[in-house]
Amino acid sequence: MHLTDDRYQRDRLRLELALRLLRHEARTQTIRYWTGLSDDRVRKLFRSYIKPGAGLRRHRGKSPEQVNYFLRSGVIGAEAHALASILLLFGVVADQPNPASIRKIPTISRGRLLCDGYEAYRRVVPRPRIDFEHAAFLAKALTAGDEIRLRFCPACEALNIVETITLREPHCRACEAAMPDKPKTPAPGRPLRAAAGPAADAAKLPAAPKA
Ligand SMILES: [Zn+2]
Repeated sequence: MHLTDDRYQRDRLRLELALRLLRHEARTQTIRYWTGLSDDRVRKLFRSYIKPGAGLRRHRGKSPEQVNYFLRSGVIGAEAHALASILLLFGVVADQPNPASIRKIPTISRGRLLCDGYEAYRRVVPRPRIDFEHAAFLAKALTAGDEIRLRFCPACEALNIVETITLREPHCRACEAAMPDKPKTPAPGRPLRAAAGPAADAAKLPAAPKA
């Protein structure tokens, strides 16, 4: 492949990702972070490609930055656990934090994986409540690992989001077993479970229609 073809391909992927992010109503700073496009370019893309009647909004202000949102006990917390499981399965996040990777410029391919994961979440949860900005923040926070991280329950192997530094020993959302500090990964070949309660049940793939 010629260098110019390579560059053309990269630019095309960058624009495709930006449009996908716009359709998820991501903020300009989020689109800039994942694509490297300037704010001005993002605004021009929105005006050129998104029809006025498409029902999409441009959100202003800062992106979310409170990890407590994901640790709530209700439906949001349950959905955050389902989403974290999907992000792990799609390879958007690893089961261990990797803060070094966050300092590198996010690659287009990682941005596409994030969109894949978020779109899968919206398909499997009947009434998804977590917006794209929070999904992108969850991926970033789990990669940084300084406030929250993933932990597998030693009793039932469900995936949990836990505070990185806490005086209370966290308990599994699925079986309520204590989860000591040492993270444990499930044995190979064991299915990944989301510790999420009602939304985890909702997050299961829909049954095939009856004939
Ligand atoms: Zn458990």
